Amino acid sequence: MRELAIGTACALALFLLLQGVNVLPFVVLAALVFALYRWIGIPGLSVRRFVPLAPAERNEGVTFDDIGGQGSAKQELLEALTFVTEAERVRAMGIRPLRGILLVGPPGTGKTLLAKAAATATRSVFIPASGAEFVEMYAGVGAQRVRELFRRARETARRSGRSSAVVFIDELEVLGGKRGRHESHLEYDQTLNQLLVEMDGIRGDEEVYVLVIGATNRPDLLDEALTRPGRFDRVVRVELPDREGRRQILELHTRNKRLAEDVDLDEVARETFGFSGAHLESLANEAAILALREGEEAIRQRHLLEAVEKVIMGEKLDRRPTEAERYRIAVHESGHALVGEWLDPGSVASVTIASRGEALGYVRQAPQDDPYLYTQEYLENQICRALGGSVAERLVLGSASTGAASDFDQALSLAERMIDAGMTRLGVVSRETLPPALRHRVLSELMAEMESRTRAIVEENRERLERVARELVARERLGGGELRQLLELPPPAAEAGAGDR
Ligand code: ADP
Repeated sequence: MRELAIGTACALALFLLLQGVNVLPFVVLAALVFALYRWIGIPGLSVRRFVPLAPAERNEGVTFDDIGGQGSAKQELLEALTFVTEAERVRAMGIRPLRGILLVGPPGTGKTLLAKAAATATRSVFIPASGAEFVEMYAGVGAQRVRELFRRARETARRSGRSSAVVFIDELEVLGGKRGRHESHLEYDQTLNQLLVEMDGIRGDEEVYVLVIGATNRPDLLDEALTRPGRFDRVVRVELPDREGRRQILELHTRNKRLAEDVDLDEVARETFGFSGAHLESLANEAAILALREGEEAIRQRHLLEAVEKVIMGEKLDRRPTEAERYRIAVHESGHALVGEWLDPGSVASVTIASRGEALGYVRQAPQDDPYLYTQEYLENQICRALGGSVAERLVLGSASTGAASDFDQALSLAERMIDAGMTRLGVVSRETLPPALRHRVLSELMAEMESRTRAIVEENRERLERVARELVARERLGGGELRQLLELPPPAAEAGAGDR
């Protein structure tokens, strides 16, 4: 229909042109009207599609094998997908078709990858969208786009001879936030309502089965209507990968890269606690760039380890601190490292004073296993470790600096956790009924105790600390092994005061 109109218009314009009529004003006018119609929409005019959606993206053949870690998420998702792969049987059993799966987890953990793999596994077309695309100032546009999305999913599947489509909506909370909360709430409500209508319309016996996969990091913001049975029925949690998961992801992203003999991905995985899959992908890329810059043929372990820091802290800063500042930073970081090693030998992975991003320097810990819960001893040690920097500054340089502010925040929040977990002299307390003054007093006592414990450690090892600080100024970075060599701490068992450690 549209093609016919365009064709006729072109023919008419050509005809008039040949007749010697000046058609330019008509063409300009037509272009203007078309632009207005397409981008803004004309109020009151019911147009089927005046806003183009992102072109249907192919799922690039991503399979579940291309996703590292996420064992339980994959398992749950695969189970849910039998609804699609065995739609006939499901229907025969009178089971309601599965309409929506919600992937919940932090950014960069592979939710999009999982949705793509789900499309591949079910031989579905993959139609991606983001919640933000549906939010417009003009009433009705969002709802229109939702309708268009589902229509396009069905049409694309039909055209490519598939019997199912996966509609992937990233940042679902933007589109599916609780109703009545937004300023232009009418628009939001209409958009969300349209999504509900579309989902309710999925019966499972149409020509094309549409499965909606939503992704969000904030399930708490979603309107309850979305999580009600029959809509996003399945919730699959996609967590940050654990050590084994991180190793698998690193393997996947170094598959197409040349690795030197000395590369130990296990070690890199251990050093990257808290990294998401996207961070690890970027790490592998950074390591390759570093190797290239050094003119190496293959990526070496040191490239990977340097890339870890690069990803954490961003690019190296151009502005370098002065010599005096550098020594202060070195003392501060050595303080953290010394206390860390004293309390938990072998726990420091590296210490650096190279300024990157926001931090002036940092000590990285190497957790042996990702902990699920924390003991009182662990929390106390962490507080001492956090205080180690400022205590060292005061002891060695005679004064503290503003560099310790975030350490104090960390120490305080750990101390708050201890109070809430009933680990202080107050015993088990209720957060609500505990008088703020008492809470403050106990917090101060706890911090004072931890500080004096930290001071004792630093005083006893002052020479060692200064040795490390000097070396740090010279070399900027010390690996865990190098640090331990420099510190020469006596083995814990041989120490008379081993109880302290
Ligand atoms: P999300 O949708 O959760 O924000 P993505 O799926 O878009 O995350 O992941 C972004 C990128 O990070 C992917 O393209 C991939 O390179 C990498 N990535 C994330 N998680 C994984 C994983 N589990 N396995 C392999 N690569 C991953």
